Amino acid sequence: MSGEPFCEPPLISVIAPCFNEADNVEALHQRITAVFQSISADLEIVFIDDGSSDATSEKIGKLAEVDSCVRLIQFARNFGKEAALTAGLDYAGGDAVVFIDADLQHPPEFIIDMVNAWRDGAEVVYGVRQNRDGDGLARRAFTFAFYGLLNRFGEIKIPPNAGDYRLLDRKAADALKALPERNRFMKGLYAWVGFRTLALPLRVDERAIGKSRFSFSKLAEFGIGGLTAFSNLPLRAAGLLGALVAIAAIGYGLFELLSAIVFGRETAGFATLIVAIMFLGGLQMIFLGVLGEYLGRVYTEVKGRPLYVVRRKAGFDA
Ligand code: UDP
Ligand code: MG
Repeated sequence: MSGEPFCEPPLISVIAPCFNEADNVEALHQRITAVFQSISADLEIVFIDDGSSDATSEKIGKLAEVDSCVRLIQFARNFGKEAALTAGLDYAGGDAVVFIDADLQHPPEFIIDMVNAWRDGAEVVYGVRQNRDGDGLARRAFTFAFYGLLNRFGEIKIPPNAGDYRLLDRKAADALKALPERNRFMKGLYAWVGFRTLALPLRVDERAIGKSRFSFSKLAEFGIGGLTAFSNLPLRAAGLLGALVAIAAIGYGLFELLSAIVFGRETAGFATLIVAIMFLGGLQMIFLGVLGEYLGRVYTEVKGRPLYVVRRKAGFDA
């Protein structure tokens, strides 16, 4: 790739997950097409309609009729952005793939920078957000805490301001595709597969039309998914805390015993007992919950259901 002369222009697949983005897809298509006029590469845009309830699919279908670069995968229902990205990987045939948000928050012009870096030998190129003005304080705090925890205790290091806006070389895309897990925490998976990775500064735009689809509860679900997929710390913490509490209990027991035998003091009664029972009961419940969280995820993996169901495809040759 790097240094080699291009016999024919490489094919780049741009993958855009869309959930109720009917008002954005045409502008997105236009801007991406314009970008590709300035780089010598072939283009394929794979739109994934993630169960939109608006006219997203119709609009993309129309684009596919007039532009042979446009492909559409329509899901049977909303499966989530991570599933949509995975579907994009499954159907994209490019020498490199680019993930881009369909809401125009990711300026398509950045693809030029990413493709240039790819031609210089980078296998993964991603944008690092320079601004989070659009995000509320709560979301920023959540993000900070989440990546802090994960990077401190997780099995991989995830750069905190890296978004999904990225380019993957075919090798990296194939490696991602080969990961069998149902729980697709993409940011973790990118880091896990590795490859020569380059970060470029990126200014994220305001959402063009509509508002963010990620409610706080969706974000929390996403966070827990990421933590459990890439860290066993919560499980270990249970054992550790259990051991600490047991040691404390032995210490306290000895103390009571000594003060009764040596100093003849009366042992404290009822209140201490209740506190201890409630404390330990609570701890046990919490860790049952943690165990349950992992067990539930194991169950999801074992069921092995497909990550998405396709209703309709358009723009593919066969
Ligand atoms: N998206 C999707 N499925 C979903 C939610 C979002 O495909 O269930 C898409 C959405 O259409 C957009 C991208 O994922 O192209 C990012 O979503 P959004 O702008 O709502 O998230 P944010 O910018 O707040 O991270
Ligand atoms: Mg957005």
